[in-house]
Amino acid sequence: MKKQVVVIGLGRFGRSVCKHLYELGHEVLAIDIKEERVNAVSNYAYYSVLANASDENALKNYGVKNFDHAIVAIGDNIEASILCTLILKDMGIKEVWVKARDPHHQKILEKIGADRIIQPEKEMGIRIANQLDSGKLLDYIELSNEYSILELKATEKNSGKSLVQWDVRAKFGCTILAIKRGNDVNISPMPHDVIIQGDILVVIGNIHDLKRFEKKGF
Ligand code: ADP
Repeated sequence: MKKQVVVIGLGRFGRSVCKHLYELGHEVLAIDIKEERVNAVSNYAYYSVLANASDENALKNYGVKNFDHAIVAIGDNIEASILCTLILKDMGIKEVWVKARDPHHQKILEKIGADRIIQPEKEMGIRIANQLDSGKLLDYIELSNEYSILELKATEKNSGKSLVQWDVRAKFGCTILAIKRGNDVNISPMPHDVIIQGDILVVIGNIHDLKRFEKKGF
């Protein structure tokens, strides 16, 4: 479903969000206080406007109130980021996602009701370190403090084994949700499906069970 999203602050992060949303077919209003930044996104935003996002009237004039989603990606001016977040929440925007520069900024954003706070460099750093540490972990989603979904790459050790032979649920308490092989995705793997080296397994489970599976199962 097409969404209407206002992206405020067009640094590297804001531009990337803006461009990708546009490519996914969403309607993006892009705002920055610097003209060159506004011009830089003119080809991949429905509207790109020059405005100070800590000025409530300016945001009202551009109809920001009618948007359901806002991404505040102002990292170079914490005061403006906080003010803008307050204004957007006051306007009644349902989902206001904000980029935080550091833990203090994050704490303030939590207190003023930001719906999601992102620290891109920190989050990406953790992700990359986890992938490098594991060697088999390609990606993951944290569902809660206890449960995650991982994408793990099958090694030579797993090659030729069927799911029933491997018996992942009994041995490790994890469930294989899907098997990706090249462009094919098997979303309801059967007990006799055989794994080959290089397959990507999408696995759900408790984080401790997943860790054990990742360490001992491959
Ligand atoms: P990144 O680290 O992702 O490159 P920056 O934090 O450097 O992002 O970029 C922040 C952007 O936010 C800049 O383009 C800056 O012009 C813009 N910006 C800063 N203050 C305001 C404001 N009050 N209103 C709108 N845009 C702003």
